[in-house]
Amino acid sequence: MVLLGAPGAGKGTQAYELARFLDAPHISTGDIFRENLRNKTELGQRAEAYMNSGQLVPDSLVVEIVRDRLAQPDCQNGYVLDGFPRSVGQAEALDAFLEERGEQLDHVIQFDVDEEEIISRLTARRSCVDCGAIFNMRTDPPEERGCPEGRDISTCDIVQRSDDTEETVRERIRVYRESTQPLLDYYALTGVLSVVDSSGAGPAEVFERVKAIVGADGAKKTP
Ligand code: ADP
Repeated sequence: MVLLGAPGAGKGTQAYELARFLDAPHISTGDIFRENLRNKTELGQRAEAYMNSGQLVPDSLVVEIVRDRLAQPDCQNGYVLDGFPRSVGQAEALDAFLEERGEQLDHVIQFDVDEEEIISRLTARRSCVDCGAIFNMRTDPPEERGCPEGRDISTCDIVQRSDDTEETVRERIRVYRESTQPLLDYYALTGVLSVVDSSGAGPAEVFERVKAIVGADGAKKTP
């Protein structure tokens, strides 16, 4: 399954929920890069400047990482891709992997959201380094929701992403329009593309719309 959408459209939040629902691994290329940045690996160092300026990391680097990740045993029965593919070149690489593996995409879900809402959501976004939970300081602050893993929230490491400043967010939206939006036409031809409107709706409401799309498959794959 592939999730598409502008930055801040809610892909990450929905991918996290969907992966739990389907009992499938959640593969976020953004998370993989951020983990490498934190651990100061060579990959992290190569990606850092692109990420902090809102640009895409070059396809060659991303495609290698996804290929390695999909080769892990937990990906044998399916996976939720979040943030990949993000360019037509990456989508073509994914098609080649799928063909090698004898697999097909079950769903491509596009999250649609209003641009001004994106800026407001992203500048208020915070996430937990320990468990990956995502909060919004205006509508869903950590002190109110608490830790989804039951820890004392005051001990959780909750941070703002360095690319969630207004200037970088505007650049990420521009890059999305230029490089990622063409994927909608690419996937429209496959017959597996669904569009979910996520403007003005909370995460739980959007997840109900996602379940309506994958519902039957979800039930089939849950052990
Ligand atoms: P968002 O969707 O909120 O912009 P992500 O967490 O998916 O953020 O990605 C953060 C950054 O990581 C991107 O702005 C980009 O620099 C890099 N990145 C992540 N996935 C890809 C990808 N598939 N191709 C190129 N760059 C990527």
